[in-house]
Formats: sequence, structure tokens, C-alpha cells
Amino acid sequence: MSDARATTKPVPVPTVDSEGFWTACAGERLTVQRCGACGAAQFYPRNRCTACGSADLSLIDAAGTGTVFTFTVNHRAPTAAFAAEAPYVIALVDLDEGPRMMMNVIGCAPAEVSIGMKVRIVFEARGGMKLPQATPA
Ligand SMILES: [Zn+2]
Repeated sequence: MSDARATTKPVPVPTVDSEGFWTACAGERLTVQRCGACGAAQFYPRNRCTACGSADLSLIDAAGTGTVFTFTVNHRAPTAAFAAEAPYVIALVDLDEGPRMMMNVIGCAPAEVSIGMKVRIVFEARGGMKLPQATPA
């Protein structure tokens, strides 16, 4: 449960499967998993390929570019920590490698965001980690 009074944004907690992803983010590198058996790319990091079930997965650098698949504008901050940013955009971004990621679109007004918009990935420092976010390409 989130606490509406929380004054700091939540910070990701790496798992065995996601630790490499977050380490790359700390160096401002976006990665996706690539399957050595079938070549499929996937996000989020898992211990099996969602296409073929193989465990032969490795992290590859993504280009850091993608397209807005869809988005919403959030006008009501879920916690006090997000209040200064509302209204803000929550989007599903299709990376050029294929996987779809949820992130904020920052660096422009919400009214400037559109479906099909080209974006590039930037990183938001948060609680000692860095989170991928999108900004207009
Ligand atoms: Zn596979």
C-alpha cells in the first residue's frame, strides 16, 4: 500500500532478475533481455524467455529510442511526493527493440504528448538509483 502522505517517491528494489538492468541504468544505459535461443527481446527482466522458455538470456544495450504507444495525463498525485509534478504523463513506450515499457514523459507539457510520438530515454535520479524516463526525441 502506498501512503498518500509519503514525501519521497518510491525507489525500485532490484531482484536477482533485475539487478543487472538497474546496474546498467545507474550508468545511464538502457538494457533489454535478448534470448540466445530464439532472438526475442523482452522487458522486464525475467529468468525465462517469454517466447520460447529458454533460460539463455543476456542483457543487451538498447538504442534508447522508442514510440509512445499510449499515455494518460495524471492530474491527481498519488502521494505528496508527486504533487509538484502534477499534471504529468504516464506512457507505454514501445522501444525500437520491441519491448514495451511504462514510464513518464518528461521535458515537455502533457498537451504536447501524442500517440506515435518519437521519444528518447533519459534517466531520473531517485534515491540513489536512476530510472528510465522518456523525453521528446
Ligand atoms: Zn527465446
